[in-house]
Parts: sequence; structure tokens; C-alpha cells
Amino acid sequence: MPRLGVLGWPVAHSRSPAMHGAAIAALGLEGWTYQRLPVPPELFDETVRALPGAGFAGANVTIPHKEAALALADDATDAAREIGAANTLSFRSGGTIHADNTDAPGLVASLPFPPAGRTALVLGAGGSARAVVWALREAGAADVAVWNRSPGRAERLAAELGVRAVAAAHPADILVNCTSVGLTDVSTTFKELPLDADATGAYACLVDLVYRDGDTALISAARDRGVAVVDGLEFLVQQGALSFEAWTGVQAPVNAMRNGARGTPPR
Ligand code: NDP
Repeated sequence: MPRLGVLGWPVAHSRSPAMHGAAIAALGLEGWTYQRLPVPPELFDETVRALPGAGFAGANVTIPHKEAALALADDATDAAREIGAANTLSFRSGGTIHADNTDAPGLVASLPFPPAGRTALVLGAGGSARAVVWALREAGAADVAVWNRSPGRAERLAAELGVRAVAAAHPADILVNCTSVGLTDVSTTFKELPLDADATGAYACLVDLVYRDGDTALISAARDRGVAVVDGLEFLVQQGALSFEAWTGVQAPVNAMRNGARGTPPR
């Protein structure tokens, strides 16, 4: 009976159990389950090492464990190693722990057009920004610029990943918000980010990693101006579909996962 789950601290807010549960139900995967695994940082390593013996085939990893997940893995994909973080662990025969980062290919899969030859501006320089910058660069974006509230952090990320740091926003094909701005209070978004609502119209596509009940201020401003938008739940679905495929070897039922993540009952 293969078990799956999401390791985080806290993890009560995660939509991953509903999303993966919907995938398991849609495919009729007998005996498979997906659960929340709330684990404080000091217990992360010993908990993960006990999972294969408890019947787990794999797990997603979220805040604050993504770096620790990579550190304890026996082997890892180039993406996880170069990004420096893993969001997907797979437990293989013999007890080996394999680490992957599906945030990067998930970002590319969520875009309405391939990023090759396109320009991109990434807001933020934390963990998710690293995966997004790496993904855009690897996918052949012509220019990737990074802005961050704390400029030194953007400069370090840009130097490490071979892109450029910027002090202000500029028009580009793709805008990705990788800051946590908008998570708790939509009213402060355009005070905390280096652009106003009208400026969202300068992008062909806007991705906001933040998800909440209802649209974020960035998503609604961009949609009002005819910009193609990808919200945080769609990003969650795309990275989750790739994790699901890595564990089960079966093509992920993306629509079922989308409905599960959004709380839409199956039809
Ligand atoms: P980190 O904590 O690693 O980074 C946070 C980033 O947000 C930093 O760049 C930080 O800037 C910036 N920031 C925080 N507060 C402010 C503010 N008031 N004004 C301007 N910038 C601010 O977080 P992650 O990169 O892991 O995640 C970022 C967001 O993306 C979170 O909201 C998270 O929920 C979401 N996310 C969504 C996913 C999904 O599946 N949809 C997956 C992963 C993340 P500074 O360096 O100056 O502190």
C-alpha cells in the first residue's frame, strides 16, 4: 500500500493532499494515499529516514525543509543540485533517497508559451526565485533579471546563476512574482513591489506563485489588462503533476489535480 505525503512545518494550509488525493481517486490507484506530514526542522532527517520503512514511496517537501531534503538525499537530479533545494523525494529499492526539484520544470510547464528567446523579470530572491530563475535560464530565456527588496540577495542569486540583478522593474515577456507579497494582505502589494497596477499590462504573461482564497492583486490587475495569468495554484498543480509521475510512473491526471487543488468537486 504505497503511501505519499507532504513534509512541512507548518503544513496545515497545504492544498497538496487534496490535489494528490484527487489524482489517486481519478486513476483508481488502489491502496495509494497522500497525507500531511507536519515535521519540525530538528526532526526532519530522522522522520524522512523512517518513511520508506513505514511504506512511503515518496514525499513532497515544502517550507522550511527544501534545502535539508537535498542535503540528506543519497542522489539528486542536476536541477535539485544546481538550485540547492529539493521539493520531491522518492524512496527507491534498497532504501535510497532520491531528490528532485519539480518547481523548475513546473514553472516552465505552467507558462502559456515556451520561455526560449523571451525576456523575464523575477521578483524575489528566496528559495522559489532560485528555482524559477534556474528554470528560465535553462529553458533558454534571452534575458532573466532579478529584483529583490534586499538588493544584496538579488545580486548574489544573479551572480550564482549567471543572470542579472536590477534595481527597478522593466517591461518583459514574463513577470514572475516569487516574493510572499500578497499572501496575507492584497492591499499593500503595489507599495511593496516595484510596479503599480497599470505596469502589470507591460508583460505578455504574469505568474504569481502566491496563492490564497481569491485572486491576488497582481493576478487581478494583470487579468484586467488582458495579460495571460498563471496563479499560484496552477503552478502548484504543474509541479505536483511532475512529482506524481515520478512516484507512480503514470501520467498525471492534471485536470483532476486542478479541481482537487481548487476545491472543485469532480464531475
Ligand atoms: P522565501 O522566504 O525564501 O523568500 C521570500 C521572498 O519574499 C524574499 O525575496 C523576500 O525579500 C520577499 N519578501 C517578503 N516580504 C516582502 C515584502 N513585504 N516586500 C517585498 N518583498 C518581500 O520564500 P519562497 O521563495 O519559498 O516563497 C515565496 C512565495 O512563493 C511564498 O508566498 C510561497 O507561499 C510562494 N510559493 C508558492 C508555491 C506554489 O506552489 N504556488 C511554491 C513555492 C512558493 P527579502 O529577501 O528582502 O526578505
